[in-house]
Amino acid sequence: VVEIRDLKKAFGDLEVLKGVDLDLFKEENLVVLGKSGSGKSVLIKIMVGLLTQDSGSMKVFGQEVSRLKKRDLNALRLKIGFSFQNSALYDSMTVRENMEFPLVRNEKNLTRAEISRRIEELLDSVGLPQTINQMPSELSGGQKKRIGVARTLILNPEIMLYDEPTAGLDPITCGDINNLILEVRERYKTSSIVITHDLTCAKQTGDRMAVLLDGQFDALGTFEEVFPNAEDDRIKSFYDYNF
Ligand code: ATP
Ligand code: MG
Repeated sequence: VVEIRDLKKAFGDLEVLKGVDLDLFKEENLVVLGKSGSGKSVLIKIMVGLLTQDSGSMKVFGQEVSRLKKRDLNALRLKIGFSFQNSALYDSMTVRENMEFPLVRNEKNLTRAEISRRIEELLDSVGLPQTINQMPSELSGGQKKRIGVARTLILNPEIMLYDEPTAGLDPITCGDINNLILEVRERYKTSSIVITHDLTCAKQTGDRMAVLLDGQFDALGTFEEVFPNAEDDRIKSFYDYNF
């Protein structure tokens, strides 16, 4: 569903992406790892048209993103669910209002009853039906993350982008989030990119790992292929640091 070829992006003298090749296959969970500042977020931003590459191609559902007209880009963005690092719930709105917001903006012909049903179904699927009338300030960090995922799902995205879904959570809650990522794929048949520094998350959720090193993806394969026997010191140190 995503095809990236020889993608390059620099900011002034700083070459961030130096010829990236990567595919995301249908219903796959692809984990993207890489040091802070290696360009993971830049890659995702090019994917949703927030940045444009200098050269090379970024195709999503067969369409070159940088050549889309505004209307087509908006339509594409609706098919991509972006779950932000800080979950970004609106603090002054209840959970229900937070979830309604994207629907009311983008799906103008749903009835109240349909909207309610969809919200309840999604809150059920993240295991938090009882929070519907609560304010974000009354929820824990892990609960907010799960609500954030539920809200991202409300427009039926075909691709989910998770930017550090487990950052700052205790190991048990991380496990819950990892299970949620797997359940979302199972239920909604999404293809996902999971950006993480957490190798337990990577191992539990990822079908394939992609490690961004010096502007290119160096290691690609299953967790077992990439990590335990890594020869590259930079990949090894990732592994040694986590286990
Ligand atoms: P982290 O793990 O900390 O989130 P990252 O891999 O997501 O890191 P990016 O946000 O992709 O890192 O940034 C890669 C590099 O590109 C950084 O050096 C950053 O300063 C630079 N950069 C990103 N966006 C811009 C921009 N709009 N203008 C200039 N430089 C930028
Ligand atoms: Mg980032």
